Amino acid sequence: YTAKRKGSGVVIYDPAIDQSSQESLSLLSELRRALERDEFMLYLQPKLDLATGAVVGGEALVRWVHPEKGFIGPDNFIPFAETTGFIRMLTTWMMEKVARLSAQLQAQGLQLKFSVNLSTRDLLDQELPAAFGAILERHRLTPAALCLEITESAIMDDPARAQATLDRLAAMGFALSIDDFGTGYSSLAYLKRLPVDELKIDKSFVMKMAQDQDDAKIVRSTVDLGHNLGLRVVAEGVESEEVWFLLRQMGCDQGQGYFMGKPMPVERFLEWLQQWRAPEMLDQSENMAI
Ligand code: C2E
Ligand code: MG
Ligand code: MG
Ligand code: MG
Repeated sequence: YTAKRKGSGVVIYDPAIDQSSQESLSLLSELRRALERDEFMLYLQPKLDLATGAVVGGEALVRWVHPEKGFIGPDNFIPFAETTGFIRMLTTWMMEKVARLSAQLQAQGLQLKFSVNLSTRDLLDQELPAAFGAILERHRLTPAALCLEITESAIMDDPARAQATLDRLAAMGFALSIDDFGTGYSSLAYLKRLPVDELKIDKSFVMKMAQDQDDAKIVRSTVDLGHNLGLRVVAEGVESEEVWFLLRQMGCDQGQGYFMGKPMPVERFLEWLQQWRAPEMLDQSENMAI
């Protein structure tokens, strides 16, 4: 057992307390402090139209710059943030950052669409839609400028409640995307019923699709499935020009990956936007038709 609670409600320290729960407590307080001290950073990874090479927006990805431990990637703290409920604060922090940036860029005439990742826990949070609504209002932003990415497994964790939250978010005008599609255990029945706009094919299928026939077939089928359901299809993990062109041949709408740009801090993302040139052989036909 860990700490023991007496009738008075006082928690008595027990030396038998297991180390892992001690560590958890200190990690949680570190996360809270990180938010206060502004140690989280918004990174953006470009998302492009695969037919034209035009930038359509970017995915917001969090990074933790720890004063001693240095740079910490999301896979090392998001799962913990989820189990402790800290994710709720992180999600609204991200939304706030992204909404502010979107509003700034819109004021400069740049219409980019940014996506924010939601976790399982966020989908069960009844107050999330209202919190997002308040953020949008503060920045006078329409939700159409924003997309929310949700993984299949997050939805399947409690499909009924997830559906209720997603219905509310969709009714508010947010675009919704199913992230890491193909890796979770998902039900096509839910895919049909959920108010989603986009399918995002997991990078594990995309990265090797130029070498692996099975991966290529999975990607092709997913593109067709998404299109048949009236959804936009996005590929993550585009690491080469070859993969870009394969995806384009398959009719995949948008792509994101190291070939175009890695996740980067906002300042660098804005510089990247200025210097981005799509590969030369894109859209020859359309250009010639003009
Ligand atoms: P995700 O939402 O599927 O994000 C895509 C991940 O794939 C990112 O990893 C990105 O850096 C990586 N990626 C993109 N293109 C390539 C590529 O061409 N090659 C390779 N090898 N990787 C590529 P990242 O930033 O480490 O994030 C990992 C996961 O952490 C995300 O997966 C997402 O599930 C979660 N995450 C990140 N930021 C947030 C956040 O703010 N909130 C929540 N709830 N989850 C987040
Ligand atoms: Mg994502
Ligand atoms: Mg993904
Ligand atoms: Mg993924």
